Amino acid sequence: MVARLIDGKVLADELRAAFKTRVAALTARGHCPGLAVILAGEDPASQVYVRNKVNACEAAGIFSMKIDFPPNVSQETLLAKITELNGDPAIHGILVQLPLPRHIDEAAVLEAIAPEKDVDGFHAVNSGALMQGQPRFIPCTPYGVMKMLEANRIDPAGKEAVIIGRSNIVGKPMALLLLGASATVTVCHSKTRDLAAHARRADILVAAIGKPRFVTADMVKPGAVVIDVGINRLPPEEGGKLCGDVDFESVKEVASLITPVPGGVGPMTITMLLANTIEAAQRRAEA
Ligand code: NAD
Repeated sequence: MVARLIDGKVLADELRAAFKTRVAALTARGHCPGLAVILAGEDPASQVYVRNKVNACEAAGIFSMKIDFPPNVSQETLLAKITELNGDPAIHGILVQLPLPRHIDEAAVLEAIAPEKDVDGFHAVNSGALMQGQPRFIPCTPYGVMKMLEANRIDPAGKEAVIIGRSNIVGKPMALLLLGASATVTVCHSKTRDLAAHARRADILVAAIGKPRFVTADMVKPGAVVIDVGINRLPPEEGGKLCGDVDFESVKEVASLITPVPGGVGPMTITMLLANTIEAAQRRAEA
């Protein structure tokens, strides 16, 4: 069997085209959605991510504000900026690009964002709401994965879903969303024993590990849906290209559906950031 591709780029383009109408309607009512993106430091990957987010906003008609801080920015300065943005009526969403410099208390910074502007969905209020099955803002990457499943008519209800990775931004919210969609969910991580045996039970396998080509064909049940969240840069001697956590070439021979890297989950993550920002503006307009 050769798997069908789940093309995140095509779905992202479709959704973004629809957003334009919603943004235009909100703007006409005086509520142009606005996103502030804070970047602290000079991490090259973060700079690319931030640029992509700002460009995507522009293309959708969303106002965006990019705020750069040097790597030695103080926690007080970051918190003061967030307080200012919390009170700025032109800003509906605030995103702090992670990772932050080591001397910054990441949790304190994320908790400083007003929950109603937390379009990344990382604030405890929003993760708590998700845990209770009443999501307000869903973290963009797992939200994008759910949209990809929906668009491909994959109903998780009753299926075995196995997630490899338990981070707060991908693995855990992914598990909650799949549980909310009535899948039987297993979360694997770096201490899991016999990970391959767990992975092989999956009807839906989500890899969010950060290790290139970690998931190989022998870890995948024939016919499984494989979602590759990983974004890894290969070393120059291997071509320096981006690759996922899934060994695409071997796994596509076993899976029924598979996401590529690049062009899979990545474009959907930014798309759901736009969706959350528009939603934040809509809620404000209706308040
Ligand atoms: P993380 O480092 O916070 O978490 C990685 C998880 O993988 C951990 O929970 C760890 O327990 C698990 N893990 C590590 N080694 C393992 C092993 N040998 N066996 C089993 N589990 C293992 O990473 P993250 O922020 O969740 O990101 C994961 C990957 O997804 C990264 O490649 C990241 O770049 C990518 N990512 C992509 C997007 C996107 O838009 N596509 C968004 C966020 C993250």
